[in-house]
Formats: sequence, C-alpha cells, structure tokens
Amino acid sequence: MKKVVIIGAGLGGLAAGIQLQHEGYHVTIVEKNAHAGGKMMPVKIGDYSFDFGPNTITMPDVFRKVLSNVGESLDDYIEFVRLDHHTKNVFYSGDSFIQSTSPDAVIKQLADLDPTAAQTYWDYLKEVQRLYKQSEHGFFHRTFQSWLDYLSPSLTKAFFSVRPLETMNHFHSRYFKNKEILQVFNRYATYIGSSPYKTPATFSMIGYLEMTEGVFTIKGGNPNLAQAFVEVFKKLGGSLHLEQEVSQVIVRDQTAAGVQLASGMEVPADTVIINGDFITATKQLISEELRPSLPNKKLDSYEPSISAFVILAGLKKYQQDIHHHQVFFPEDYKREFSDIFEKNQLPEDPTVYICHSAYTDRSISKGSNLFILVNAPAVNMKSGEEIDRYKNKIYDRLEKEGIDIRENLEVEKVYTPDSIAHLFHAYKGALYGVSSHKKSDAFLRPRNKSKDIKALYYVGGTTHPGGGSPMVTLSGLNVAKKIIFNDKA
Ligand SMILES: Cc1cc2nc3c(=O)[nH]c(=O)nc-3n(C[C@H](O)[C@H](O)[C@H](O)COP(=O)(O)OP(=O)(O)OC[C@H]3O[C@@H](n4cnc5c(N)ncnc54)[C@H](O)[C@@H]3O)c2cc1C
Repeated sequence: MKKVVIIGAGLGGLAAGIQLQHEGYHVTIVEKNAHAGGKMMPVKIGDYSFDFGPNTITMPDVFRKVLSNVGESLDDYIEFVRLDHHTKNVFYSGDSFIQSTSPDAVIKQLADLDPTAAQTYWDYLKEVQRLYKQSEHGFFHRTFQSWLDYLSPSLTKAFFSVRPLETMNHFHSRYFKNKEILQVFNRYATYIGSSPYKTPATFSMIGYLEMTEGVFTIKGGNPNLAQAFVEVFKKLGGSLHLEQEVSQVIVRDQTAAGVQLASGMEVPADTVIINGDFITATKQLISEELRPSLPNKKLDSYEPSISAFVILAGLKKYQQDIHHHQVFFPEDYKREFSDIFEKNQLPEDPTVYICHSAYTDRSISKGSNLFILVNAPAVNMKSGEEIDRYKNKIYDRLEKEGIDIRENLEVEKVYTPDSIAHLFHAYKGALYGVSSHKKSDAFLRPRNKSKDIKALYYVGGTTHPGGGSPMVTLSGLNVAKKIIFNDKA
C-alpha cells in the first residue's frame, strides 16, 4: 500500500486525503494546530461561538463532490442553508442595498439607486454566467504546468474569452453607474484577496455564484464542513495527527520520501503533499539547494493577497438589525486599496464587514456573535496600544452607524495580520495565498507538482485553481487525481 503524508489539515489537504485514502493509499495528515480545517476554524469564547475563516460559502457542489466521489453524501453530515437576501451593504451616503438571488428584488432597488443598472442587470448576469462557465470548463479542474498549457487551441480560446486583459473595475463600470453600487460588485475582488482596480475581470464570475447560485451557511457553523471531511477521512481509515508540526520534508535522490516532525520523529512516505502555505512551507521545510526553480528570492517576490484585522465581539444584547452578512463601505473605495497595496498600511477609512451568523440561527451562540473584518496588508502590529487604537477606530465607525459595540461587549478577541500569519503559517498573513494582480499570478499560479522534487505536490490557495474555500477544495481533488493517474501510468 503506497503511503502519502499531507502537511496540513486545511480543506485542500482533507479533500486530497479523502480521495487518496479511498483509492487505496495509506494517508497520514499532520497538522500543527489543535483543530482540523485550517483557516476554517471554530472559536468558542465563553457562551459565544464564532466562525473564523470562510464566512461566505459558495459552490456547495464542490464540497459535495469530495464525498460523492467516495460513495458518501455530504448532506448526511451537514446542512447547507441558502441565504436568499444574503448581504446588506450600507454606503457612506446612508443608502443601502441588499444583494439577493432574486433579480426582481435587485432590480427593484437599482431602479432607485442606479436606474441604468436596473436596465443592464440582466446583461450583467448573462455575462458573468458566461465568464463562470468558461472558467469552470477551462481552468477549474486542471493542474497547470506552464504557459505552454495555454497554447492548446481550446485553452487559448478559453483564456481570451474570460476577459483577462480588462480590470474588474473597468468591466463593472460598464454596467453600474452609481459609484456606491459599483463598490458592491467591485468588492468581489477581495474574495480572492486582491484589488478590483488591478484584478482581471475574469473574477467577476464570483458575481454569478452569489447573485444566481446563492450564498450558503452551514447549520451549526461553517467549520462543521471540515468536521464532516475529518469524519469521512477517518472512516476510510486515514490517520490524522493534530498538534504535530512538520519541520522538514525528507528528500532523497531528489524525491520526497516523507517528513520529519518538530519532535524529531520521521514519517516515511512515497508521496508528500504540502497543504500549508506554498511560500512559507517551501522556504521552511525544503532547503534552498534542493529547489533550483524556487529560490528564496523568487518566493519573496510574490505579492501576498489581502490579510485582515479581525475582531470577534460577543454582544450581550442581540442585534436584530445586523444581517448575516453586512458591509459598511467608505466614501473612497480606491483609497482603501492604495493604502493596502501601495502604502502597505492599514486603511485609514476601511470597509467594515460583519458576519453575524446568529442572525440566521440564534441557537448558534449567546447574544450576537459578530465577526468583524477589515482588509489589511501584511503589517506587524506589535504594541497593544496600536491594536487598541485601530480596533477603537472600527468601533467608532460602527457607532456612527448605530451599532454600539463597547456598550454591549461581553467577550472580545482580536487577530492581526501577524497573528494570522503565525496561526496558519500563512505568507504575510495572506488569507488567499498570492494576489491575482499580475496575469502570471492570476492564471499561472505556482504549479501543483514540484518541478525540482519528484513525488512532491502542493494543494491550497496559492496554487491552481486559486484561493477561497471551494477553489482550495478543488485543488485537493485535482492533485489527488493527478497522483492516482501518475501512479497508474
Ligand atoms: C479571516 C478569513 C476570512 C475568510 N473568508 C473567506 C470566505 O468568506 N469565503 C471563502 O471561500 N474563503 C474565505 N477565506 C479563505 C479560506 O479560508 C481559505 O482559502 C481556505 O480555507 C484555505 O484552505 P487551505 O486548504 O488552502 O489551507 P489552510 O486552511 O491554510 O490550511 C493549511 C493548514 O496547514 C497547517 N500547516 C502549515 N504549516 C504546517 C506545518 N509545518 N506542519 C503542520 N501543519 C502545518 C496550518 O496550520 C493549516 O491548518 C477566509 C480566510 C480567512 C483567514
């Protein structure tokens, strides 16, 4: 029986582990943290429960596929709840706009806020559907090796059909004339940790997923998805070791031969998969002379995707006016991205996103369980004063919107970009691996199979097909398929 070791129990690692274990491999997953699921992390503080990590779940069929491939049904383990009127957006002007899977509900609001968009909304939906279908067909299920892959006639056609040369902001400006409504659709760039003013319009396809297929939450908390994966992985006979950090990938004759743990113990394997962050893990676990195609200089040149300043706030008094997903936009959206990507500083006037899962299911937590997130670059916030100052800036902003956090606060926990980096070994605290600003990083992400070391593979947000929970799950499935195919060849 061939042995596989997977470094990290994120969604990508678990998805790969389930497929390979089912296919007859003996899979061991080694995870440094005390929970499985990686960034999909449950946090309990007193009687308050929070979901850290993916709050917005799209593409449930991708997650279902992980289990249906092995003869199980994900719906026997968890319940997806579709949020039809999913996100309330509040603008600087005081206007608001609720995103919905009902085009009628959207057009009714646009008629007041953006009459041109009320006319063009169906055209927008048609175009983002086309972008999604083309991308799904051409890119989601492949592991790319080089630009040469794009030279096949079908892929060249697919590549140029997904608007790779136009920015998201430019594309959206053709449909939405109201500056504030434009902010709502441009915010999709942040779902891949990037700026709408630099990201290719291709990623506007996220609008198709949200505005037609819908946004989902998982009953009892999103981390139940990772728990379902763990249950099936173990049921198939896989081994999961928590609180065990890998310190080195063992390489013999330029071939991965297992891993060494921080405790000094060795776990031999025929194949090693790295699910930990591509850049951090490569630098930390493989010595530079073994990877001529990935010297540290090259790894350091990647631009990380957005990180975050996150506050988990448990409020005694239930806040019935805060939707499951609620966004407060600043006046100048462009400035936020220039603060993050050009000035490398916390945004002066940030967009404040709140996930309030108790809005949909009050039994999930005491009071109101607010996950408050502000986009941030990779900054080091070493002093408590600096952290408190920024936190209070966010609370002041929310107070202006009628949400008095300080008055009702019972429990609170803050995560900064450096604490996120430390917690998940994420490159500069990036939530989604590398950004998608350069064409090369958007369409030719680092390869899933090592060029330098045989039997070494990568899954996760920095590799193909990209960041975000459905994409990393697909990367796990794609890599498992590739390993099985290579071994059979
Ligand atoms: C605050 C936040 C909000 C987000 N919001 C959304 C959202 O709304 N929607 C969405 O789709 N996505 C969202 N994401 C992104 C999403 O969570 C990630 O894309 C996805 O979960 C990443 O999965 P992964 O398998 O690539 O890796 P990870 O989840 O990063 O898992 C990798 C695992 O490897 C472990 N590891 C690393 N190094 C080692 C080592 N040396 N030894 C042992 N273990 C190691 C880490 O501890 C980690 O558990 C969000 C992320 C964050 C942090």
